Amino acid sequence: MHSYDTLLAAITAQHGSTREVHDPATGALIGTAPLQDVAELEAAIDRAVAAQTAWAALADEERSRYLHRAADAIEAAAEPLAELLSREQGKPLNGPNARFEVGACAVWLRAAADTPLPVEVIVDDGENYAELHHRPIGVVGAISPWNWPMMISIWQIAPSLRMGNTVVAKPAETTTLSGLALVAVMNQVLPDGVLNIVAGPGSTVGDALTRSPRVGKIMFTGSTGVGKRIIEASAHNVTRLTLELGGNDAGIVLPDVDAAAIAADLFWGAFINTGQTCAALKRLYVHDAVYDDVLEHLVAFAKDMPMGVGLDEQNVLGPLQNRGQYEIVDRLVESAKASGARVVLGGDPDHGAVGNFYPTTIVADIDPHNELVTEEQFGPALPVIRYSDLDDVIALANELEFGLGASVWSADRDAARTIAARLEAGTVWINSHGGLHPMVPFGGAKQSGYGREFGVAGLKAVAEPQVVSG
Ligand code: NAD
Repeated sequence: MHSYDTLLAAITAQHGSTREVHDPATGALIGTAPLQDVAELEAAIDRAVAAQTAWAALADEERSRYLHRAADAIEAAAEPLAELLSREQGKPLNGPNARFEVGACAVWLRAAADTPLPVEVIVDDGENYAELHHRPIGVVGAISPWNWPMMISIWQIAPSLRMGNTVVAKPAETTTLSGLALVAVMNQVLPDGVLNIVAGPGSTVGDALTRSPRVGKIMFTGSTGVGKRIIEASAHNVTRLTLELGGNDAGIVLPDVDAAAIAADLFWGAFINTGQTCAALKRLYVHDAVYDDVLEHLVAFAKDMPMGVGLDEQNVLGPLQNRGQYEIVDRLVESAKASGARVVLGGDPDHGAVGNFYPTTIVADIDPHNELVTEEQFGPALPVIRYSDLDDVIALANELEFGLGASVWSADRDAARTIAARLEAGTVWINSHGGLHPMVPFGGAKQSGYGREFGVAGLKAVAEPQVVSG
């Protein structure tokens, strides 16, 4: 699979129901994706169940070696994978985008392979002895969204395989080819049946996956609304869940910052993947004393960031992945405009142009309860809210149902850490936003989900704890 054409040929649907896949930047037809059904899902679960016992029986080191081989295979196919991802998802090859995402897949696979999880002796006092093992759960269902379709799938697949489970993956409808390509590349080296994928609608195939009595754990990343449906479905079989749901991360800028020095990090915190990132900075609260200065430097940095077709090496921002998301961003910016907020950059899309391009948009002097602030925009439109009282801004940051990430920006690290303790979020970054590390637990508070991915916590999340006592 060392060329784009071979990769595409390997995953192109030849028969059955299919869907045309168009490049969100150009509208060009790039391929045909299968639209599978519940019968095909059941067949995939059959294969996963059949393969699981032998996979779990391998020594831990042997499974780790397989994960490293899968990472090698991804690295060998990195450029065609990135090209397909760029064409289907829209994100540019360059910048923290398609090549970066493919590279991260290999990094997270290797981290899952190399993280030790020894048996823990819990009690050993001469009279009592108890040790804690982490056994495979069985079959894991891995349901992923369209914004980082390869990387997020790997976050679900890698720990699951390492712990001796087999996997049935379900990619998002609009990034099916990216999911299929990733799995096809990994399956060049993995044993048959260990990693399966079924490309079908969430409402039928995804739903059936979450209700299957043969699937012991669902790893889900997507919207809070679908997450709630999955919680209901899980009640049938007491299915284990890790839910990475929506976010509306706040950033709080204190009056002591150097506005010029933080502009680039603020920008990338908000606009990485053209804003289509769960833990992106989605509402920025800036103290009145530095408001104009921060805004000026942020706009100066943002205004020249090239947006365009992903395969053009100069671009670092792309289109919205699908028209539905474009329309959400457009509606929210129009709502901000109608409320009297000040658009200082962008906000003027060409609705008739080819591609789902929404310009980089920054909206100032906006009411903290405008929809652009309180709803998840998931696109390149950042509201910047003025504040003057610290208690008030902390209350605003905490008032939404989301709690994925947050950030505090200050020259005084201790002051920032004190504020972090008051923020309701799974991660609080100081002087950056959104950086992830394969050993650092990641996940949401409140309605941004539950459970943690990555590192030791992530391995434990796809295992059944078992005490052996006596
Ligand atoms: P979505 O919830 O619409 O879809 C996610 C996946 O769920 C898709 O594969 C879809 O087919 C499937 N699905 C839909 N209905 C289902 C059902 N009834 N049962 C089972 N599966 C079903 O989300 P999306 O629009 O693809 O992604 C955007 C959302 O994902 C945003 O809210 C974003 O914040 C969130 N997200 C969260 C994280 C995180 O780590 N917390 C990461 C990325 C994206």
